Amino acid sequence: MTQKQRLRIQLSGAVQGVGFRPRVYRLATELDLKGWVLNSTAGLALEVEGPPAKLEEFATRLEREQPAAAVVLGRRRLRLAAVGYTQFQIRPSSGTRPKTAAILPDLATCAECRRELLDPTDRRFGYAFTNCTNCGPRYTIVEDLPYDRPNTTLRGFAMCPECLSEYTDPRNRRFHAQPNACPRCGPCIESAGIESAARALREGRIVALKGMGGFQLLADATQIEAVARLRERKAREQKPFGMMMRDIETVRRFCHVSPADQELLESRAAPIVLLKPNGTPGIAPNVAGGSPYYGVMLPCSPLHHLLLRECGLPLVATSGNRSDETIAFEDQEARERLGGIADGFLTHNRPIARPCDDSVVRLTRGRETILRRARGYAPLPVRVTKSLPAVLAVGGHLKNTVAIARGTEVYLSQHIGDLEAIEARQAFERAIADLCRLYDFTPELVACDLHPDYASTQWAQRCGMPVIRVQHHQAHVAACAAENGVEGPYLGVAWDGSGYGTDGTVWGGEFFLVEQNRFERVAHLRPFRLIGSQAAVREGCRVAAAFLGEVLGAAEIEPAWRRMLERGIHSPWTTSVGRLFDGVASIAGVAQRNCFEGQAAMALEWAIGPVVTDETYPLPDGDWEPLIREVLADLRNRAPAALIAARFHNALVDWIVSVAEHSGVRQVALSGGVFQNRYLVERAAARLEARGLTVYTHRQVPPNDGGIALGQAVLAGASLCA
Ligand code: ZN
Ligand code: ZN
Ligand code: FE
Repeated sequence: MTQKQRLRIQLSGAVQGVGFRPRVYRLATELDLKGWVLNSTAGLALEVEGPPAKLEEFATRLEREQPAAAVVLGRRRLRLAAVGYTQFQIRPSSGTRPKTAAILPDLATCAECRRELLDPTDRRFGYAFTNCTNCGPRYTIVEDLPYDRPNTTLRGFAMCPECLSEYTDPRNRRFHAQPNACPRCGPCIESAGIESAARALREGRIVALKGMGGFQLLADATQIEAVARLRERKAREQKPFGMMMRDIETVRRFCHVSPADQELLESRAAPIVLLKPNGTPGIAPNVAGGSPYYGVMLPCSPLHHLLLRECGLPLVATSGNRSDETIAFEDQEARERLGGIADGFLTHNRPIARPCDDSVVRLTRGRETILRRARGYAPLPVRVTKSLPAVLAVGGHLKNTVAIARGTEVYLSQHIGDLEAIEARQAFERAIADLCRLYDFTPELVACDLHPDYASTQWAQRCGMPVIRVQHHQAHVAACAAENGVEGPYLGVAWDGSGYGTDGTVWGGEFFLVEQNRFERVAHLRPFRLIGSQAAVREGCRVAAAFLGEVLGAAEIEPAWRRMLERGIHSPWTTSVGRLFDGVASIAGVAQRNCFEGQAAMALEWAIGPVVTDETYPLPDGDWEPLIREVLADLRNRAPAALIAARFHNALVDWIVSVAEHSGVRQVALSGGVFQNRYLVERAAARLEARGLTVYTHRQVPPNDGGIALGQAVLAGASLCA
């Protein structure tokens, strides 16, 4: 008889609340192994005892058959002497510190739960809070670790006998599904029900719905007046609204949907996906506002499924806030803040632990690029290759996110927003406190931006902890390199709207040669002046004037602006490629304003349309003057805007390729808001790859300022270790 052995396995990552313990239980029972499994604050721990061959089989199969929603980041195995277990048990969670288990993001309703929801014979028929271990809320209900029901916002709901028997049966899909609930014992809808909300929407009214991570404002996307009312009350002039459609067929009716787009729409994260409209009429033109895209998501919770079926309309679904404030997520607060916007409320009594907006993604290079990282993604950690000290990174100013680094894992908060409003700053402070408390985290060091006026920088300076300031664009490319595990020297291309440069000017068109976290700025756009500073961010014609003044002579531009240029008053220097886009869009007559960040650049990308050309403009060493001259020549020759837009994009690509070739390195990382531009990214990547270079783009964090907290954490952490 073979000697029995004992095998201990410890898993870290997002391994709780996904049905891991029942999987272990079933596998151990099947192989007739004894021992136990439990959720620990570090993740999942288990021991199995039996013949060595069986233990090997167990370990292999566990790896292969892990639950679909689990994200295993670390795996440790230990062989021990047998102790003579007589059964296999699921043990209560252990509560020892530190808390390092990753919390799962909220997961969209799974196929089985959807089927039950619509099955009149099922006891959860029409029940808006149906969930199981494969789906349902996680991050927005957890208040503490380990992830057990008393540590969630479901703690006030005692399970009925039927729910409890599901919850305690390892063979059941709801075994230890912490938010498990049914119509008898779980949360319920308050005030006006689904039917009356649907009726109100059909009648053109605005409904505030308590969703997964906060309140959403809903309106009929087919009624121009309803959408206009929402825009007016929300004080949102042109920024596009997201939409929710009941199923993939409806999405196809209005949009081009590639198989990869469909995969994103139907993924567990169920984000808003940017899609090209296919021209079918029906959606009110003021939904997309100034954007050429539709942002569409599928229902992400049973409540959304039920409402969308009931009203049968594509709905505008936008964050419950005014303008660019943070999303409202508490009932009282929502009634106060949204009372003047919504005509009615559809709310319920399941509390939301923390706000979490809908995420926004776009397909680039055949893969997902996250533009806003929140529901469905946060707070999954990003794994980095080098271990980091305990750094708190407070991010940028716009599209703010914060992050904490522990070892090789960096936990990023959900999208917080622009830190202009006092409310956003409060949400920012709450997010920091929340992450630190949840993960029992004490920072040794705070990383922030170099910009002295960012609210996040000012918070860092006040917090009383050691602070390291990280240059904005270096943080951008470091984030891209870190999430891709780039080793060795690389060329970092950081193009965005603006960031504070080490020389005090506004950067945004930078190339860095990076080795061992040392940055050499090897190239940048030829500087130009921003006439009126912030006003030039909104009005591309001011940027255009600065270019035209140089190319055609100062006499050609408005006297007031000329004086500003001549005296340099209120006209800071910049190397921003984002602004270059605005200026060219203005000169080409494609877009004159940015009512929201990136509007003109998006219009210029869209203007290319189906045009395919290798024609380009000269942009020698980043000097825009010859480029502007040729744009003007094209305009005189009545070249179509599509061609001008394509040539402009191609010129930028050529510049990247030529700097890369001269740099002598074989790896290129593209980061910054400009690289949300699909044409630019795909063409640059293809050209560089054709020359044998490896190109890295963002996958887990946004290329825009939503990703810089990661880069700050990595660079500040490395400087402390150095
Ligand atoms: Zn489910
Ligand atoms: Zn129940
Ligand atoms: Fe930036």
